[in-house]
Amino acid sequence: MVHKILIANRGEIAVRVIRACRDLHIKSVAIFTEPDRECLHVKIADEAYRIGTDAIRGYLDIKRIIEVAKACKADAIHPGYGFLSENYDFAKECEDAGIIFIGPKSDVIRKMGNKNIARYLMNKNGIPIVPGTDKLNNKSINEIKDCAEKIGYPVILKSSGGGGGRGIRVVFKEEELEEAFEACKREALAFFNNDEVFMEKYIQNPRHIEFQILGDNYGNIIHLCERDCSIQRRHQKIVEIAPCPSISDNLRKSMGVTAIAAAKAVGYTNAGTVEFLLDDYNRFYFMEMNTRIQVEHPITEEITGIDLLVRQIRIASGEILDIEQSDVKPRGYAIEVRITAENVWKNFAPSAGKITEYYPALGPSVRVDSHIYKDYTIPPFYDSLLAKLIIKATSYDLAVNKLERALKEFIIDDVRTTIPFLIAITKIKEFRRGYFDTSFIEMHMQELLSKTEDRHQDNKEEVIAAIAATLQKIRASREKN
Ligand code: ADP
Ligand code: ADP
Ligand code: MG
Repeated sequence: MVHKILIANRGEIAVRVIRACRDLHIKSVAIFTEPDRECLHVKIADEAYRIGTDAIRGYLDIKRIIEVAKACKADAIHPGYGFLSENYDFAKECEDAGIIFIGPKSDVIRKMGNKNIARYLMNKNGIPIVPGTDKLNNKSINEIKDCAEKIGYPVILKSSGGGGGRGIRVVFKEEELEEAFEACKREALAFFNNDEVFMEKYIQNPRHIEFQILGDNYGNIIHLCERDCSIQRRHQKIVEIAPCPSISDNLRKSMGVTAIAAAKAVGYTNAGTVEFLLDDYNRFYFMEMNTRIQVEHPITEEITGIDLLVRQIRIASGEILDIEQSDVKPRGYAIEVRITAENVWKNFAPSAGKITEYYPALGPSVRVDSHIYKDYTIPPFYDSLLAKLIIKATSYDLAVNKLERALKEFIIDDVRTTIPFLIAITKIKEFRRGYFDTSFIEMHMQELLSKTEDRHQDNKEEVIAAIAATLQKIRASREKN
């Protein structure tokens, strides 16, 4: 077993990894940038090293991170999610330095971390992919228009290196295509340092269903069931549920078999996720593979009883996977909501500032994964995620009730958070029934906002009227097509 792990990340996921290290009696090393000096991961790790003053660049500084790992004699690095987690250069540099990278091998990240290459490989291996194109960057605008024509509008432009819902544009008609393509390239370059863009058929109102994969270094690969992540805003997940409340056992089985085939096709090791889109006719398509631990991994832990971080570390240390597919027996339902520091009434703009009150929800069936505490000041530079609230119950209905109860108990003051909006989601009929698709938030925005109780809601009527007008425009323009 490894004996000391450096965590190349911050915030809640760094805290989560440190907890797994403690559980396994492994020493943990935090790194931090100057604005993150007071973050919880720095306080609870066994050792902590400042890696720079620049808020973002520090966590992306491959050379420096490896230097620190060597200097403090860490024998493994956990990359968390975001930052360097899907950067194959980083994984390769770790491998070359003799440090265990807790994740798949660098060449697997190179293949699957790029959506376009992954699509090509999956297609070659008989995995159904969304109809679409190769990269478009060397094509003329007329050729790109021809591609869209062939696929049929609406289409979606996506960045090969994208993540977190960024670098995506949905295009409903030809007149919008050129501008959307340029905007997509710009965003892809700015966020991912890679302007490669490709096109897919835009599947209307699909469900996002993903399978958690676990593979050891000896060719054993299993899945730990699925998660429904259809509740999204701007292609970013807000609520995740395991298992999916709206698919049959047969469909679940066949998607699971396909997910394992996808992972086997590239010799996948460690934890990863195969994401699918499921259409109205129950046809499913490979969308991408995330070659890392995911934000929503706790719901899988809750229904399977398998600690994914512990498993990641044990697999990376060379242990053989001692669970077979038939040993995976999910029980009940788990729901996660992402509580973010955002102002719902300012179009979800990020809010920063000091936390003056903090009472996380407690009681039966409640888990909170977070890095915040009373008197902590949220730096403005990072992801707006403050806490993940995770609920476990025997049935979906009960899980939703418990979620509503826990959210109502949760206090984070005096920064603006999405808690009141999340409570509103628990009140919507379709959510309670467990049947919804990725259009849920957009379609219910007006109803959600009117149900969002918030003592700061000074401009509520104004915002709701504006949303209603925008929605009407969107619907009208889509109907014309
Ligand atoms: P998950 O797939 O685990 O649900 P998200 O897509 O919500 O995760 O992303 C989690 C975090 O990681 C976000 O902060 C997001 O911006 C960041 N992230 C995800 N993919 C990338 C990427 N390719 N490059 C940079 N950051 C990323
Ligand atoms: P990211 O790396 O940002 O997670 P994904 O490729 O996983 O990017 O897409 C994010 C979300 O965008 C999906 O969960 C889905 O809601 C939507 N999406 C992506 N591709 C399509 C598509 N072809 N049709 C419809 N929706 C899509
Ligand atoms: Mg995705």
